[in-house]
Amino acid sequence: MRLVDLRLRGFRNLKDDLLELPEEGVALVGPNAQGKTNVLEAIYYLEILRSFRGASDRQLVRFGEPLFRLEGRVRAQERDRPFDGERVEQVVAAAWQREGSRKKVTLDGQEPPRLSDAIGQVGVVLFTPADLALVNEGPAERRRFLNIVLSLNEPGYVAALQRYRQVLSQRNAALRNGAADHAGAWDDLLVRSGARVTALRAHWIRTGNERFAELHRELSGGEEAAFHYEPGIRGAPIDEEQATLEDATEAGYRDALEEARERERRQGTTVVGPHRDELRIRVADDGEPLDVRDYGSGGQRRSVALALRLLEADTVRRRKGREPILLMDDVLAELDEDRCRRLLDLLDRTAVGQTILTAPRDGDVRFRGDRLVRWRIRDGQVHR
Ligand code: ATP
Ligand code: MG
Repeated sequence: MRLVDLRLRGFRNLKDDLLELPEEGVALVGPNAQGKTNVLEAIYYLEILRSFRGASDRQLVRFGEPLFRLEGRVRAQERDRPFDGERVEQVVAAAWQREGSRKKVTLDGQEPPRLSDAIGQVGVVLFTPADLALVNEGPAERRRFLNIVLSLNEPGYVAALQRYRQVLSQRNAALRNGAADHAGAWDDLLVRSGARVTALRAHWIRTGNERFAELHRELSGGEEAAFHYEPGIRGAPIDEEQATLEDATEAGYRDALEEARERERRQGTTVVGPHRDELRIRVADDGEPLDVRDYGSGGQRRSVALALRLLEADTVRRRKGREPILLMDDVLAELDEDRCRRLLDLLDRTAVGQTILTAPRDGDVRFRGDRLVRWRIRDGQVHR
């Protein structure tokens, strides 16, 4: 995919502008706090329709402005599957205004029936230093990762997840109020949406593991890594094929809920389900594979986080039939020499699409040698 141009209005510290992006991509170079990450945030906003930094829409509006608006023209290249109706170009726009806190998203000028229909329309994978949290933090961080990858790439996932969350919160409210019988009324919906979420996660994890290990080996110079799904529904048949997996998981989920009845009554909350999932990641030098979160070195953690993002890029290629646009925020500056070289080698071979990266110094732009165009950024103004 290629982002042909990006129109900015009222977004963060960035000056209103129309950025025409080179086909290969661009390196944004500039000192701290000039707006480099803000540009990536704007682009990724068009993919997930919110800030990747967890900022509210209100915080994205430039101080003193009434609204922000972003518009990106995306073009499918020859190797990319075209958009619906065989169109090769699509305009994705998103706007938010302070008055009434209104958000509006359009695809080619049309508002889609649901906001979730418009996510994942660009095909972008983002690498940031904050990705280390995928390894260092608790299971919730890795569930968030799974949710993003699957929401963007797996039809039906967002709907199932949204359903599950709604039902879970209703059910928990009933349990909190001591109305366990009332809570039981939600079981059926909980089981159906939860089993779908579990099945889609299980399938992605199972089919991605080998590639993850391969990517990790290349990045780390031969170290073994593997991830493993520990579903919140214990005993969910995660190794089954997709079709049987969901049915069998539903049955397992019902039994698990039955078993947990008393515990739920005591704790006042739902204790089984995909909201308790863990994606366990283990790394081995020579000996026993060890949980990277508990035992990994700084370098091992970085390799794992990078491998997860590269696998995400792979997922876009496989599931969408599109070469993802890569956004890399200060990523190369963070790596040691060897790991950096191996990452660059790997990207040279696999990532053939547009790449937009940021770096504080010229010396940190090593991607594609000197072929990548450089833009300077100062006080929110991009200088081409
Ligand atoms: P670094 O190299 O430190 O990562 P950066 O160039 O990536 O820096 P950004 O994170 O893009 O910097 O942020 C640049 C500036 O944007 C910050 O100094 C911040 O004060 C400013 N900023 C953030 N939100 C807004 C807003 N809503 N309106 C105006 N300015 C904002
Ligand atoms: Mg930054």
